[in-house]
Amino acid sequence: MTSSTAEPGTPARRLLTRRNLLASTGLAAAAVSAAPLLGSSTAQATVSPDCPPGTTAPVPPAAKGPAIPASGYLVQEIADRVYWLTDGLYQMIFVTTAEGVVAVDAPPTIGNNIGRAIATVTNSPVTHAIYSHHHADHTGAMALYEGARFYAHRQVADLLRQTNDPNRPLPDVTFDRHLSVQAGEDLLDLAYHGPNHSPGNIFINLPAQRILMLVDVVFPGWVPFAYLAESQNIPGWLEAPAQALRYPFDTYIGGHLTRLGNRDDVIIQQEYVAELKAQTASAITTFNPASVYQSVDPANPWAIFRAYLDGIAAQAASAVVPNWIDRLGGADVYTLSNAYQLAESLRIDYGQLGPFGIHP
Ligand SMILES: [Zn+2]
Repeated sequence: MTSSTAEPGTPARRLLTRRNLLASTGLAAAAVSAAPLLGSSTAQATVSPDCPPGTTAPVPPAAKGPAIPASGYLVQEIADRVYWLTDGLYQMIFVTTAEGVVAVDAPPTIGNNIGRAIATVTNSPVTHAIYSHHHADHTGAMALYEGARFYAHRQVADLLRQTNDPNRPLPDVTFDRHLSVQAGEDLLDLAYHGPNHSPGNIFINLPAQRILMLVDVVFPGWVPFAYLAESQNIPGWLEAPAQALRYPFDTYIGGHLTRLGNRDDVIIQQEYVAELKAQTASAITTFNPASVYQSVDPANPWAIFRAYLDGIAAQAASAVVPNWIDRLGGADVYTLSNAYQLAESLRIDYGQLGPFGIHP
């Protein structure tokens, strides 16, 4: 990175800014075209006294979590021998068992602070290392658990083999549906219910401690990350919160962002997504494609499609953002891209093709 592109602020702020920029690149035109559609109430809500006009709405109280110490990480025992570790962006857990430490995930942004955090509570090494899924932003420091036995879903092993990242070692133990990892008196019940956010993304249940970890599905206090958390199987991702609620957990570990979750957080995200899905379906039905033809080159089908899908997403987002701007963090930031992803899923997964359906 050159000095001309360096971003100010803390490492977390720099990272977030960079991620937002990357995520919004593909929808830059939509963001512009959506602005007049989002309406005055939303436009006002997105302006904070602390931010330049046109940036982002204030973060609502529900999105705020504990302060991160100057060390750059927060580690807390949240149930018997189970520790939550976060840098305010990413989250992982570890369990201090009689056999050694069981660690789930290794976000690279926490990186070597993982070892420092574990050393504040035990001298034992990490003996068991579990992949929630294969994505490097959550597991790109798994190599730090050298000497541990690695566990992952079989498809995670296949995906790791494709890219051969030395920071994500291949698992020693794989499974297809269920695997119980017993360490000392502690049990971690791993289960796969099909593809959702990614192939091989698993449910990690700690029944004795009533904790469920499921990464990149529910974002307590926040709307999902861009494009429905960049998920690869949207019908599976949409179903996953209901699957999570079938577990008897009290504490939900989502892998992000500022705080722990609970059952209400899962239900609240279901409400947000259901409303967005309904509004997107409505937009597919009611959006007037004729308006597209007035603004693009009629000889350019890609330009037509882009304007059409951007218009659907903007119409849906404009209906949803005002209802959520005070309830979930980032509603003004990612609802548009989430609507875009839902529109595409409704079209190509669910067959709601609007004007591009079966020709009469
Ligand atoms: Zn992921």
